[in-house]
Amino acid sequence: MGVLMSRRQTVEKVQKQAVQEGEDEAAAGPSQPQESGASKAAWERLRDGRGVEPEELERANRFTPPAFIRPTRELHDDEPLDISLEHREQVVNDEMCEICEVWTAESLFPCRICSRVYHDGCLRRMGYLQNDSAVEVTETAHTETGWSCNYCDNLNLLLTEEEMYSLMETLRQCKIIPDTCLTLDDFLHYKHLVHKQQFEKPMAEAQEEQATLQFSALDPEKKGHIEWPDFLSHESIQLLQKLRPQNSLLRLLTAKERERARAAFLALDQDGDGFIAESECRKARHAWFRKHQKETPSCNVSISHVGPMSESSPASSGSSKSQEKTLLATEQEEARPVDWRGFLRDNVAYILAARPNSAAVHLKPPA
Ligand SMILES: [Zn+2]
Ligand SMILES: [Zn+2]
Repeated sequence: MGVLMSRRQTVEKVQKQAVQEGEDEAAAGPSQPQESGASKAAWERLRDGRGVEPEELERANRFTPPAFIRPTRELHDDEPLDISLEHREQVVNDEMCEICEVWTAESLFPCRICSRVYHDGCLRRMGYLQNDSAVEVTETAHTETGWSCNYCDNLNLLLTEEEMYSLMETLRQCKIIPDTCLTLDDFLHYKHLVHKQQFEKPMAEAQEEQATLQFSALDPEKKGHIEWPDFLSHESIQLLQKLRPQNSLLRLLTAKERERARAAFLALDQDGDGFIAESECRKARHAWFRKHQKETPSCNVSISHVGPMSESSPASSGSSKSQEKTLLATEQEEARPVDWRGFLRDNVAYILAARPNSAAVHLKPPA
């Protein structure tokens, strides 16, 4: 079929090149001279959206592709985009495994966001699956919660080269070290610095409170710190919200996400007049975060998982109907009705933020 190299071979080749380039760049890297080799490597991987080195895959439980070309902004991507409510899209998954490009009758795991499908064996071979997470994926991929592939799991991969550069500069100025966990103090300190940079005045009390809530949302298991991939995803979606016009964000939605948004809107628009109440629109922001949780001990319930977000235990997998009903039952009358366009505009960042598999909520909607 004219395919000279399988995707796996390509990946291996690129990996080899990347290692070589890494060595070449080691002397002339853009980072500060006093940085250690390990730290420099971490910055470079961050810049390239590159995964961890093979030997690190054993301990790091992350899904980042080994070689990744960052997206570029299309020329007119801020122009209005017409996502039709009436025109439903039929979402068809790929037929062949994304990694080995082989079609087999055996079960493939679909991504809940894009159309890619995977063999679990292939995921494991690429280091995207650790032994302990294999069961989780096989269990989650076919439930309503679903599973995001390694491309969709990492919100940082949505950033262009320029956006990534800007984020790295901010992290550097705020003395954030890549690949490390952040405590609440670290997080607040960082947020204060970023705020001061942008607005040239200190953060108000209410904003600090919101930042604290965001920290809890990123630490659903109450470990007292947030993991690096969760922090990176959070900062990436924040930056996208800041730098990109709404229409550009809308273009990032996949067919599956557009369909989910349509279904949510149509369920809320009971009388079919094309408008829903503003309060319902706001509540929908919470509803996107249907996170998969490990066996849930009762102590695992955190503030961020109360309400529509707790929609994740296997027992409740069929209850999205009831969730829609609770949304419908309350506050039917509202001053300013929201149409489909407004609904998409208000929700797009939250739909994107809900992509990662991690139980963390990467963009906490205001209460
Ligand atoms: Zn495969
Ligand atoms: Zn995907």
